[in-house]
Amino acid sequence: MDDSAQRAEHFDVLIVGAGISGIGGAHHLQEQCPGRSFVVLEAQAGFGGTWRTHRYPGIRSDSDLYTFGYRFKPWVGAPIASAQAILDYMGEVIAEAGIDRHIRYGHTVLSARWSSAENLWSVETRRRDGEIVMFTAGFLWMCQGYYRHSEGYTPEWPGMDRFQGQIVHPQTWPQDIDLAGKNVVVIGSPTSLRRSERPAALRLRSRPGLSTTTTKKTTSEGRRSRTAQFSSAPRSRTGRSRS
Ligand SMILES: Cc1cc2nc3c(=O)[nH]c(=O)nc-3n(C[C@H](O)[C@H](O)[C@H](O)COP(=O)(O)OP(=O)(O)OC[C@H]3O[C@@H](n4cnc5c(N)ncnc54)[C@H](O)[C@@H]3O)c2cc1C
Repeated sequence: MDDSAQRAEHFDVLIVGAGISGIGGAHHLQEQCPGRSFVVLEAQAGFGGTWRTHRYPGIRSDSDLYTFGYRFKPWVGAPIASAQAILDYMGEVIAEAGIDRHIRYGHTVLSARWSSAENLWSVETRRRDGEIVMFTAGFLWMCQGYYRHSEGYTPEWPGMDRFQGQIVHPQTWPQDIDLAGKNVVVIGSPTSLRRSERPAALRLRSRPGLSTTTTKKTTSEGRRSRTAQFSSAPRSRTGRSRS
């Protein structure tokens, strides 16, 4: 065992992430393995994961919460839920099961190293104050999801610097943005937009041929296909949306 592992705090199980997966994992662990020690390490300052870091207006689930919710706490609200309702639900789970005492917020996992000699994971984290904090665990449970919560991905496109409109990302949605009268192009899968209640000002039209998704079609060969890019106004002749 090296020096850092000797200084580390040890848990039987180390869960990475306090999203819906990590909180569910913690709950099951507590119920089914009551003798095991565990910790949940979360980079953000609070629980929720996806439902905390995606902030555009009207954000909601697209699958029903009767199946998305936990078996141990059946969902009793409307089938489709807002992000806030999901966060409230998770908050209840945490409070009712006393999971909060197991969560360390502001701990970003930087690396995890397995030692077969020790049968041990050594996990390096950076605490929000910049301090490097070490943990060891017999079992590492990755519930980190698939988003980069610290900063959503925005590609670089040629000419982006000359674009005179506003480019916004679902994870950094400006709360004061006014879309009234604006032409809006959604780039990428518009599931997020589909999942939001579209602002009334944003009149969306499907443009087959411009790719991405929103409308589902069955082709003549019987294959299911999805097409769409949204635009609220005609394009200019150059093909660029006027904004
Ligand atoms: C608008 C929207 C609607 C959606 N609707 C649905 C739906 O209806 N049904 C469905 O099944 N899915 C839906 N999803 C997908 C959704 O992300 C997942 O279903 C689910 O919430 C993922 O939960 P998770 O806990 O696995 O991951 P996340 O919610 O991503 O949580 C992971 C957590 O791990 C933390 N973390 C990550 N890396 C580290 C690290 N290195 N150190 C410490 N902590 C870390 C993150 O900060 C985060 O809090 C939707 C997604 C979006 C954006």
